[in-house]
Amino acid sequence: MNSEFDIINRYFSRPVRNALLGPGDDAALITCTPGMDWAVSVDTLVSGRHFFLDIEPSTLGHKVLAVNLSDMAAMGATPRWITLSLTLTETLAQDDAWLKAFSSGFFALADQYQIELIGGDTTSGPLNIGVQIIGEVEQGKALRRSDAKPGDDIWVSGFLGDAALALQFLQQRITLTEQEATPCLIALYTPTPRVVLGKALVNVAHSAIDISDGLLADLGHILERSDVAATVDFDRIPCSPALKNKLQQENATRQLAIDCLLSGGDDYELCFTAPENRHDVIAQLAQQTGVKLSRIGKIVPGKGLAVLNANDNPLIFNNKGYDHFLTR
Ligand code: ADP
Ligand code: MG
Repeated sequence: MNSEFDIINRYFSRPVRNALLGPGDDAALITCTPGMDWAVSVDTLVSGRHFFLDIEPSTLGHKVLAVNLSDMAAMGATPRWITLSLTLTETLAQDDAWLKAFSSGFFALADQYQIELIGGDTTSGPLNIGVQIIGEVEQGKALRRSDAKPGDDIWVSGFLGDAALALQFLQQRITLTEQEATPCLIALYTPTPRVVLGKALVNVAHSAIDISDGLLADLGHILERSDVAATVDFDRIPCSPALKNKLQQENATRQLAIDCLLSGGDDYELCFTAPENRHDVIAQLAQQTGVKLSRIGKIVPGKGLAVLNANDNPLIFNNKGYDHFLTR
């Protein structure tokens, strides 16, 4: 039988180098680098809500950390330390293969960004995983939601809507060829947080957010917090061949694809705004980081968000984004 401490010691205690003290005491100890601000955030994944219980455990370990890294990316921060709050069912607590795979997926991604697990909490109950992350960003330089300015271009990284499309596929609402499904399932299960891009956008972008609840909802947060409006050209929103194919089909399928693109959650791409004269620098960043960057619209004075089709007519949508209390 695994005790709480067996689980911590076997799977979640690793020596730390960048912290004064890691797991094992009542609290961890860290030191802030002079000249830096801390960026702190927490995100929880709940079974049945954010993932299905049959998810591959190493994938789950990756994803729970990836969504937190994405928040650091959106602030332009360098992720440094994490704590892990793990609520395990009695069955999973005794499932060494599951625990091993989960911690391997988690640490593989942590190692990629040289971040350290410095502590946590392990309890028993329905599977629920919370990660708190602490990053550092040069004093006063963090990318906020509140600094978009009229005249800014609106940019997004990668492709949007693939994770949502994968979910529709898993729920058998649409069909995808194997070739189409593979990249969508990767986007859903093992998203790549845009940490390198986010850091490079410090001193370049005015504002940024990561797209976790869909483009409309998340760009909407920038607009609200910055007290500005936006126009977005639908045709410029970057989408994968699989999603493009669905957009070209009839009625219901096309509408579903539009919803995935505009309102699908779980993208973990960055949406940021930057002055027009940063265009060339941003194009260079795309080259350097290997991340596709697309200019999709403009920040304008006023309130609201208009998505325009090729004839400059506003599109109508039926779903704004994922909200835990409103979306049912
Ligand atoms: P306390 O009872 O003082 O709150 P705990 O018994 O909860 O301490 O935890 C003991 C030590 O193990 C702490 O240092 C805590 O940070 C660490 N820890 C507990 N769970 C985890 C986990 N899932 N991952 C990493 N460290 C953990
Ligand atoms: Mg505790």
